[in-house]
Amino acid sequence: MDQCLFCKIIRGEIPSYKIFEDDHAFAFLDINPFGRGHTLVVPKFHAEQLFQLPPEELAGVMPAVQRTATLLKRRLGCEGLALMQLNGEVAGQTVFHVHFHLIPRYAGQPAGWQPLTPPPSPEDLAALQRELVG
Ligand code: AMP
Ligand code: ZN
Repeated sequence: MDQCLFCKIIRGEIPSYKIFEDDHAFAFLDINPFGRGHTLVVPKFHAEQLFQLPPEELAGVMPAVQRTATLLKRRLGCEGLALMQLNGEVAGQTVFHVHFHLIPRYAGQPAGWQPLTPPPSPEDLAALQRELVG
């Protein structure tokens, strides 16, 4: 837990582009997004994967997932939004603290899942954060 990247972000030891926080959840922009506005929502409770997350903590984080999804849709005008949650290296998990990917989807964009290239700059991400929560 001490060395967990997302626990450090939640504690503010590593900076992030915060979008939302409540007692149970913390939401911030993904720095290597699959679409403009790609946001991660994480439970404050440290669990590596969905399997270890107590049901009451899962219930605690889901309102933040919905609220953040609604914010993204309203502010960014995306036509759709994908919710993704990966468990295990074979599923593509790289950070071992449960997280929900909220990926806005826009009409006309290519099918499938590719990171935006080039990735957004820190200035781009800060501007997007202001657009979402300013
Ligand atoms: P996953 O592959 O489901 O484990 O997703 C981990 C996600 O965390 C990836 O989409 C990364 O781009 C993202 N990520 C890694 N480090 C950071 C960070 N410091 N701030 C924001 N997002 C990050
Ligand atoms: Zn953690």
